[in-house]
Amino acid sequence: MVNNKGLLIVISGPSAVGKGTICKELVKRGIDNLELSVSATTRRPRQGEIDGINYYFKEKEVFEKMIEREDFLEFARVYDNYYGTPKKNVMDKISNGKDVILEIDIQGAKQVKRNYEDGIFIFIMPPSFKELKSRIVKRGTETQKDMDKRMTCAFEEVQQAKYYDYIVVNDDLNSAVEKIYCIIKAEKCRLSRYHIDLSGFKEEL
Ligand code: 5GP
Repeated sequence: MVNNKGLLIVISGPSAVGKGTICKELVKRGIDNLELSVSATTRRPRQGEIDGINYYFKEKEVFEKMIEREDFLEFARVYDNYYGTPKKNVMDKISNGKDVILEIDIQGAKQVKRNYEDGIFIFIMPPSFKELKSRIVKRGTETQKDMDKRMTCAFEEVQQAKYYDYIVVNDDLNSAVEKIYCIIKAEKCRLSRYHIDLSGFKEEL
């Protein structure tokens, strides 16, 4: 039985719901072969963010050239900036048996769903909107105007959760990570991911 291809796991959810922390924790826990895809963006780096690690930070003109060259598996305009997943990086990893997590917005997830039917789509829900707002305030990286925009978007985003395969409520980090870990493990056992070759078994009978 052979299953050499890695999984493509798409994680979305409203701003400050904890997607980034969940994804980092999943990688840290060392699920075999799991890697985070690094997106390209035209957004300015936040304090502490490093080019090539958090994002590939690009000028708008460069990003638009990449769109023209069809370098992206998906891309979207989110909060007035472009964000996109470099196609080659991700596809090479999957072909080499790595599982890749894309932490992307809903517009991007929909594009991936259209182009890559084997993907696993997980939506992270906040325990409540009150909690979400307090997490954005605590993060302290947004202006009041940006924060209002993100809260309005969050309300629209949770209504799109129905397009995903799984919903995970992030009320407790450990439990959310554990649930996603179990989803990934179960998805690896899905029959459709196996090419079943019984010829070797027959010889052993
Ligand atoms: P932030 O600016 O807070 O890092 O990210 C803003 C939003 O952009 C988040 O919802 C994040 O999931 C989304 N995002 C990050 N990278 C990508 C990407 O490559 N493609 C798409 N479509 N969305 C992304």
